[in-house]
Amino acid sequence: MTEVINPSTGEVLTTVPSLGLAETDAAIERAQKAFGKWREVAPGDRARLLRRFAAVVEDHIEELALLEVRNAGHTIGNARWEAGNVRDVLNYYAGAPERLSGRQIPVPGGIDITFHEPLGVVGIIVPWNFPMPIAAWGFGPALAAGNTVVLKPAELTPLTAIRLGELALEAGLPEDVFQVLPGKGSVVGQRFVTHPAVRKVCFTGSTPVGKSIMAGCADQVKRVTLELGGKSANIVFADADLAAAAAAAPGAVFDNAGQDCCARSRLLVEASVYDKFLALLEPAVTQFRVLDPSSEMSEMGPLISSGQRDVVASYVDGADVAFRGSADFKDGWWFPPTVLLAGSADDAHWREEIFGPVVSVLPFRDEAEAIQLANDTEYGLSGSVWTRDVGRALRMSRAVETGALSVNSNSSVRYWTPFGGMKQSGLGRELGPDALLSFTDVKNVFISMGA
Ligand code: NAP
Ligand code: MG
Repeated sequence: MTEVINPSTGEVLTTVPSLGLAETDAAIERAQKAFGKWREVAPGDRARLLRRFAAVVEDHIEELALLEVRNAGHTIGNARWEAGNVRDVLNYYAGAPERLSGRQIPVPGGIDITFHEPLGVVGIIVPWNFPMPIAAWGFGPALAAGNTVVLKPAELTPLTAIRLGELALEAGLPEDVFQVLPGKGSVVGQRFVTHPAVRKVCFTGSTPVGKSIMAGCADQVKRVTLELGGKSANIVFADADLAAAAAAAPGAVFDNAGQDCCARSRLLVEASVYDKFLALLEPAVTQFRVLDPSSEMSEMGPLISSGQRDVVASYVDGADVAFRGSADFKDGWWFPPTVLLAGSADDAHWREEIFGPVVSVLPFRDEAEAIQLANDTEYGLSGSVWTRDVGRALRMSRAVETGALSVNSNSSVRYWTPFGGMKQSGLGRELGPDALLSFTDVKNVFISMGA
């Protein structure tokens, strides 16, 4: 059994089973057995079941959101969005089964057609930072394409995933089509990599673990999708709407207490407006509302664990602090929103993913230096460019090496557009129209017309 902690208070919420190897194997074998029937469900019926699952999630949004507030310390506003995102992802991919068409390719002597075949059992390994959305980005398209799913939530945040597993059954999904398996990464997660019946692994989490999963999957040529870390740049040019950029910058890095792979944690400001921009940024940071996450007013809750708080604090110790917000709580794992001035692009807090409410600021001279600094990282997940110059916006959009870029905005996640990283931020894309096909293999069939 694993104790589940409320990070706002440090109190134990409940305990959850931690599955061993034999239980994991048994679940994978049940999923493999269920696959034969699930792939045969008529497309329209599979679509209807996924829509029903979405409707049951819709009926439980408040319950799921409150569970996430307690288990992950997410603000209630964010947690409602996250539960709603599960519903939306299910509804979006519920449109897929009847549209999963192959091609007919002209050939002599017969007919050539392609099929998008489901892979089999898909293993999804979820981190603690966005337990609900990241789970759904995997299981939504995986189920729609005709696969069965085993899902391992993070040990720290298993509660919403377990509830979603129950809601799937309530919605009428057949037994063993979608199973949630709480337990350790080194046991349950690792078994997804080594068990031959699991034909694909979707992993979201740290870059080192992602690399080990990719290496492990190579042994069976197992399909793999990786969503890893980030150190995304928020690039503010002198010609931008500086007030809008400054007002939006705290949310772009402090949302979810900075525990967001898309966090814009490097703030690049054109030198000519550096002082002016920091003066605009300061009130936006000091007024960022770090409150009990169940409060409707809260913009930021605690960090996930005391260990995470220690890691975050280690980057701030001895660094040049420009200004900070406040987080005055006796218990729990709180950390104030913090703005650090980078001495150069060599500073650890400028280079490494902190995964906390900390942003580093560095000035740049011109467009060329902005591009050089933005791309001087092995990560490439998201980023923002603030400018009123359309040509510059286009040039920057092509030059910055990231999977998702926003211009005059910091938003990068929509369930109907692709999401994922370049370089060491990941492999493959989730969400949007293309993700579905990554849960299938193309089969080409030639049928002879005979003599
Ligand atoms: P992590 O170790 O990569 O964990 C992510 C998931 O993988 C968890 O479910 C974990 O299980 C599982 N796991 C761990 N080791 C595994 C293995 N050998 N085989 C299979 N599965 C395994 O990430 P973390 O320790 O939670 O966080 C550490 C850092 O990773 C963060 O500070 C942050 O920098 C980064 N991170 C990035 C993202 C992202 O969205 N890209 C998300 C989370 C964390 P357990 O629950 O048992 O550990
Ligand atoms: Mg870990």
